Formats: sequence, C-alpha cells, structure tokens
Amino acid sequence: MRIPIDHQSNTAMYKQISEFLRESIYSGSLQAGTRLPATRQLARDLGVNRITIANAYAELQADGLIYSQQGSGTYVATPPALPPCAKKEENNDHLPPWQQQLQEQPWMPSTRFLEALSQKYARPGIISFEGATGDSRLFSIDDFRKVIQSILRRDREEALDYGERAGYSSLRRTIAQILTTQGIAARPEEVLIASGSQQALALVIQALLHPGDTILVECPTYAGALDLFRAYGLNITGVPLDEKGMCVEKAEEIIQREQPRLIYTIPNFQNPTGVCLSGYRRRQLIALACNHNIPILEDDFVGDLRYEGYIQPALKALDPGGWVIYVSTFSKMLMPGLRVGFLVAQGPIYERLLSYKRVSDLATSNLVQRALDAYITVGRYQAHLRRSCQSYRRRCQAMINAIEHHLPSGVRFIPPKGGIFAWLQLPHNLDTLKLYPMACEEGVAYTPGFVFCCDSSGKDCLRLNFAAQPPEMIEEGIKRLGKTLQRAIKTYAI
Ligand code: PMP
Repeated sequence: MRIPIDHQSNTAMYKQISEFLRESIYSGSLQAGTRLPATRQLARDLGVNRITIANAYAELQADGLIYSQQGSGTYVATPPALPPCAKKEENNDHLPPWQQQLQEQPWMPSTRFLEALSQKYARPGIISFEGATGDSRLFSIDDFRKVIQSILRRDREEALDYGERAGYSSLRRTIAQILTTQGIAARPEEVLIASGSQQALALVIQALLHPGDTILVECPTYAGALDLFRAYGLNITGVPLDEKGMCVEKAEEIIQREQPRLIYTIPNFQNPTGVCLSGYRRRQLIALACNHNIPILEDDFVGDLRYEGYIQPALKALDPGGWVIYVSTFSKMLMPGLRVGFLVAQGPIYERLLSYKRVSDLATSNLVQRALDAYITVGRYQAHLRRSCQSYRRRCQAMINAIEHHLPSGVRFIPPKGGIFAWLQLPHNLDTLKLYPMACEEGVAYTPGFVFCCDSSGKDCLRLNFAAQPPEMIEEGIKRLGKTLQRAIKTYAI
C-alpha cells in the first residue's frame, strides 16, 4: 500500500497515515471488509517505525473505522454515515476554476441522454426496441472462445503485441475478399482497421475537416454521428429523405448554398429510417460530389442484412477513383464489444487516416483482430450471416404485420427490406419524447426521433429495432405501443 507522507510537515506522521486511510474509507476507495496490511508490512512499505503504524491504526479503531480480528488481521469496518454538511460533491467550490468552467458549459451527447432516459423509466418486463444491435444470442460465444484459445496457442506473444498499425494483414485480406464479392474492388492495403466504425468516422473527420466546416447529412441520420460532428464543432446541414433515401435533387441546391466539405450518408437500410438509396440516386450523388469536389463518407453498417429486393451497388463500387471513403463494422453482424470496424480509402487520404489512427489509439486490439480473422475465414461468418438474415427476416415481417394490425391509422412508415430498424411517424404531431414515459408504463420502449435530426424536426417520429427481439415479443411490444398511442391520441391530440 502506498500512502503519501510529507516528512517536512508539522502534522505527525501517524496522523498523516490515519487521515489518508480515513479519507479512503469514507470515499469508498477502501471498502468495508478490505484487509489492511499488517503493521510490520506497512511500516516496511512506508519506511517508518512500526509504532507509527500502530498509532494510526489505534486511532482509526477508536473511531470505529477499522477492527482487528484475532489471528486474522485488521479490516475496514462499515463507516458511519457522514453528517450531510460533510458531503463534498454537493459543493463544487473546491474544484479548480477550469473544472467549474466546464460545469457552466454542459454538453451531453444525445446517446448519453437516451441512456439516462431509458434508465429513468426502466421497469421489469418492459419490451425494448431501443437498441442498435442485432440479437447477441445468434453469436456463438463458445466458437469464439475456442478461436481465441487457438490463436493464443498459435501466435503466442505476437498476438498480444500492438501488431500492424493499419490492422492485422490477414484480416485486411479477408475483408478485401468479402468486399470484392460485394462488388467493391478493395485491395488489402486500402483497408484500415479501426476500433469500431465510430472511430473510422472520427478519423475521417479529423483528417478532412476543421471546426466550423459544414458537413452534409441525411436528416434524420445516425445520432452517434451527429454527436461526433457536434463534438468536433462542425456545422451540420441536413438533406431530407424519402422512401428512396436521400433526396439528392435537393442536395444540389443545399451544396451550392452551404458549401459542405464532406457528405455523410448511410445508403443501405439507413439508421434510423431503414430506407435504401435508389440506384439512380447513388449515381446522381457520386456525380454531384465529383462536380462540387466533395468527398463522400459512406457508412455501410448493415449492408449485408438484406431480406428482400435487389442489392444496390455500394457508392464505393461506383467510385470513379478516390471520391468515396467506405466505412463498415462487425458490430451489427457479430458483436459490438469486439470493437472492430474498418474503412476503405485510396490515395493520400489513406496515409493521413493511418496517421490519425496511430495518434488516436496506437492500434486496434491485435488479439481480437486475429481471432476475428480466424472466425470469419473458416466460413462461420457466411453461415452466421445466413442464419442472422433468416432470423431477422422473420422479425422484420413480424414487426411490419404488428404495426399494420395494432397501430392506429395515421401512423406512417416505410416497411423495411433489411437492416435492423423501422421508423414511424405519428399522427396529430404527437411528441415521442413526451410519450416515452407513458409507453414505458405500458411496458414498451423505443427511441424518440428528435435525436436523429440536425434541426428541430423528428419530434413526431420514433425508431424501433426489430432485430433484437423474437417475433412473439415484437407482436406484444407493438400491441403495447398501440395502446400507448390510443391513450395519447385521447389525451394530447387536438
Ligand atoms: N454507423 C451507424 C449507422 C451505427 O448505427 C453505428 C452504431 N450504432 C455505428 C456507425 C458505430 O458502430 P461501431 O462503432 O460499433 O462499429
């Protein structure tokens, strides 16, 4: 144990030690039941006389903060409750001015706000459509455990080193192969592994934009991207969406007016609306970007999860050369806790992104990348993808049926053909944030729509994740949502 001792201080040494321990016990950093070092041991550690430690312990024992057990040692007791005036956190005057300044300019990402909202109204038995991932039960933990063990046996220390900064080369080759089957001709040296696609998005922002620059996004769009863009001080300009994705025709006028430095788009099964950008608009968007010299950041977070209809080419597959930075992830298809995403880029931007990756976190977990590579090269990935698509297709259909059966007419939605989300617009301008507590009371939770919008729209919308619940729960959850809406229409609608 380390206890700072000031040898020049007028305070006796035993007192300094007892005060340090007292503070640690009250703050909880030394918890009740913790065994304290023997006096002889602590005296040796601190380079003081054993009597000094014995005096410090005696004082704490007299105050009931520690107790000794014959033959077993000295332990921390449960501290008596402090009188209210001693509670430090209620009074922030002791904080340095720079900390107080932070308090005066609070900032909370919308994703943290959502987490707090969900915790506030959580109750047993609630059916939640809030998450942004698939069903973790489809991922074989046992298979992954075996793969990790075999990697540690095979690669030993090498698996625990930083590894290649652009990412494990074999995984980059595997990703390039998978992308080639999807019509994206990527070479392994154009693939950069990131710690989740969230980091890939951040790297692109760091490499290409400055605070005050404008970024063009679909409105609505992924709330975590909006949080990120705000954190970097960007101006965010939205282009509306319809059932064919971003209204590219409207983007031209906005581009001329706002002069954005980057276009961020989610062309497949968009978060939050679930819609896909049409083939025609994909070509229009590429032409627009080229005409105005604007790079495109393509976020393909669930492109593989198609249940119906034709696959459209990725924007990256239509890229005439160096215009599109493609970003994707294993979070939705496998597990988000792996924290493995990647980007594909050509030209000098690749080196720039690699440098930002290095200064950002040195490297993505080498062990996890190696395990992931082994996991997906043995064909498990394709099998897992097939299984996931089968299962999510049923859930998607269950959600569509339930919405059509249980929700009041006037609710507008575009039936999704893939991905994990459905997006609803409610009638009568019903505010989905205001309705949230009522829905939780009925036993169902969703994500309020305003968090996905860069302007004041989306208040009458909500997002549902259909992938994380089995069909019978989806049916029941939407029934509950239907009840909530009936109640709300009676209470709030004019
Ligand atoms: N893009 C989109 C559209 C997302 O929905 C998410 C996660 N919800 C991400 C990127 C980031 O995911 P990750 O960092 O886990 O890859």
